[in-house]
Amino acid sequence: MTALKTDTPALRRVVAVMAGRPTSDGAGVKLTRVIGQPALPDLDPFLMLDEFRSDDARDYIAGFPDHPHRGFETVTYMLAGRMRHEDNKGHTGLLRPGSVQWMTAGRGIVHSEIPEQEDGLMWGFQLWVNLPAKDKMTAPRYQEIQPEEVPEAVTADGGRVRIVAGRFDGVAGPISGIATDPTYLDVALAAGGRFVHDLPDTHNAFVYVFEGGVEIGPDKVARGRIAVLSQGDRIEVAAPTGGRFIVVAGKPLGEPVAKYGPFVMNTADELRQAVEDFQAGRF
Ligand code: MN
Repeated sequence: MTALKTDTPALRRVVAVMAGRPTSDGAGVKLTRVIGQPALPDLDPFLMLDEFRSDDARDYIAGFPDHPHRGFETVTYMLAGRMRHEDNKGHTGLLRPGSVQWMTAGRGIVHSEIPEQEDGLMWGFQLWVNLPAKDKMTAPRYQEIQPEEVPEAVTADGGRVRIVAGRFDGVAGPISGIATDPTYLDVALAAGGRFVHDLPDTHNAFVYVFEGGVEIGPDKVARGRIAVLSQGDRIEVAAPTGGRFIVVAGKPLGEPVAKYGPFVMNTADELRQAVEDFQAGRF
């Protein structure tokens, strides 16, 4: 049997719209947890999405001192401000507005993420992307993308699309070799603008609005809200009054998730091993 293929793409609908939850992490950084909160514990392969946004240094200045990761990837996308990261392998880098760090923690790193400014706006996202079981103990890898290396495309009516990962309108983003085949787009639409994008039906996808508001089919999605999308071939987003949002999609892994803080493995035994390896200084 072969499935009948039609020319009409199936539009993705909004399954749920929800607000992020204010919380704090690291050494007291105030942030909004969008994925990884009780109302949305995960969205395979995405384990966490945080938005950090404050122009009060007390909300971010302490940063995220030394902490470990094993078994997944952390993706930091900066909109404003500067963040310095350093790891226990001697790797260091500076995240600037518009830059991206896609860190594959694999079998383990210990790093710090500390603001490199004492005032002004600090704004961006951190997304956690799971690794398949076969890659959880891979060697750590960094993809450090400078702002000018993130390509931009323009929609039919003049909207601006920054392509972090995946493709839009034939333009490929700079991130490569990620198991979950991710798409990560930053889309800015003027009032009356529309964004249309085809995605593999099997990927899980969401839209998170961080300026203005949008409409997806009959559903309104305001600033600070995530729209979890159904399966389908195509995403359509309208912005009657203008809006800016990220569109993120990835291939679900469908594997068991065993999670303890910054360790994400498949079984409780692997978690115990991760804690033991970290405490014994084997990261
Ligand atoms: Mn980290």
